[in-house]
Amino acid sequence: MPYKTVNILGVNVASITMAEAVEEAERFMDDADGHHLIATANAEMIMMATYDESLRDILNSASLVVPDGAGTVWAAHHLHHEMPERVAGYDLVQEILREAPSRHRRVFFFGSAPGVSDAAKHAAEEKYPGIDIVGTRNGYFTEKDNEKIVAEIKKANPDLLIAALGVPKQEKWLKKYQRDIGVPLAIGVGGTLDVMAGIVPRAPKWMQRAKLEWLFRGLRQPKRIGRLMALPKFVMKVHASRKS
Ligand code: UDP
Repeated sequence: MPYKTVNILGVNVASITMAEAVEEAERFMDDADGHHLIATANAEMIMMATYDESLRDILNSASLVVPDGAGTVWAAHHLHHEMPERVAGYDLVQEILREAPSRHRRVFFFGSAPGVSDAAKHAAEEKYPGIDIVGTRNGYFTEKDNEKIVAEIKKANPDLLIAALGVPKQEKWLKKYQRDIGVPLAIGVGGTLDVMAGIVPRAPKWMQRAKLEWLFRGLRQPKRIGRLMALPKFVMKVHASRKS
């Protein structure tokens, strides 16, 4: 591995720049027989992994876990490790999609409410002319639909599967089905398709710079307020895990 990882509450997160993460993603997509998973770890996901062992195992067996969130970068620094920058899942996906037309990548959008993945596809086609989005599928389904969904994605034969089912559903689904699908790279992206479709706004740049994207999301979707409690718990737990 060309970069180091930092163990944050049991999850190994890559100490990596955005440019390096994009390079890794391209390498994974070139590995036609591979089945690489990129996870985007924010404080909430890492907290979840402290009590969800199967999520933790999936993250630690992923090809790459990027530091998605100011909290993750803060934790690495607090534990006296280098972590060059935040690699937000949304931004990583945009970088990869920007390169997709010239590299002839086939991309599948899976997840979010009905209509959202199609709207995200149209937005991507406008923003990245020539991009080949080979299929879309919403993220609301039951157990009995899985076989059909796997067959549908497999038939579309993508190089990249963008999975937006929320954490930890997307990571668990991909762990179970990625090999059957045979897609070289899958990325779990949470709300990225909602943002691409224009349904959920991204935090303004000044809030991103001020490391307050979590606050923006919490205030915009009041039902997320409970989820915000993971953040102070994360801070306390990381501090408690520090050796000196
Ligand atoms: N979602 C889905 N299927 C589900 C539950 C959620 O497709 O069964 C979608 C939801 O519509 C949203 C995304 O998953 O687009 C989760 O977004 P969120 O911002 O909550 O992501 P997280 O914070 O979990 O990464």
